[in-house]
Amino acid sequence: MVKKIALEEHVLTPGLIDYWRPTMTEVPPALTADLFKRLTDFGDLRLETMDKSGIARAVLSVSGPGVQAERDAAVATRKARESNDFLAVEIQKRPDRYAGFAHIAVQDPKSAADELERCVRDLGFKGAMINGHTHGQYLDHPSLAPFWERAEALDAVVYIHPTDPITPAPVLDGVPALRRATWEWGFETGSHALRLVFSGLFDRYPKAKVALGHMGETLPYLLWRFDSRAKLYNVKLAKPPSQYIKDNIVVTVSGVFAAEPLRCAVDALGRDKVMFGADYPFEDAIEAGHFLDTVPIEESLREDIAYNNAAKLLNI
Ligand code: MN
Repeated sequence: MVKKIALEEHVLTPGLIDYWRPTMTEVPPALTADLFKRLTDFGDLRLETMDKSGIARAVLSVSGPGVQAERDAAVATRKARESNDFLAVEIQKRPDRYAGFAHIAVQDPKSAADELERCVRDLGFKGAMINGHTHGQYLDHPSLAPFWERAEALDAVVYIHPTDPITPAPVLDGVPALRRATWEWGFETGSHALRLVFSGLFDRYPKAKVALGHMGETLPYLLWRFDSRAKLYNVKLAKPPSQYIKDNIVVTVSGVFAAEPLRCAVDALGRDKVMFGADYPFEDAIEAGHFLDTVPIEESLREDIAYNNAAKLLNI
């Protein structure tokens, strides 16, 4: 087995369970119970699965939506802080196996920036995971300038995780099987990342680093088209859109354990931009590990995707 760092490995912290429950209403109760057991476990169950998957280190993050579903900004800010403190204690019990992404209430941008800094500087977190939009506000919103300034200054990666859109697209009406992880989240989250690119966020924060799961939420496949249409629509950016995606965005294989999109992501973005993630416990981490162990690619690329790229990005 190739040694791996896994970047999309979820947990639930005590104060955030009530935000997670509504996302499970369509999942059979027995499966929900198993997921809950795994999300709240920081011991043998998680570590055994990591051992079987070749995951040397898991970068832990709160399962969405967390405080992004909270209407009261002060409550969201407090609960995010409590969650980060809780997670930091768990990571410190196994600092050789775990690392963390901060949970951030972006409802209050100045507090969000301060909490990100506290998490990175004092708690040793590697960046933040943001669960998509917050009550319909995306991360390109001008009010979030303090957050991006701080993230860039801290060299902290911001991992954008899928969430449900505010309103389901009409094209999905009557076909519930296409909602959420099948198709809807990819469009929602890919669109979120493209908002950052097309709003010029990376012209304002050229060293900002964003991570996407699910092999880049279809972006690597479409670089040429983004550039072609940006020209047609006279988009005012310093560089072609594809260049920001290559320069500012990294992707993980979470939930897409297939050779063809892996090759596409590596070819489109570069061999140093693709990393491993299992999306535990929502995907089978052992299957994820086996995929990367056996996918027909050259060994040095396998090692880079599995470990070296993430170690460099996250200073592990
Ligand atoms: Mn996930």
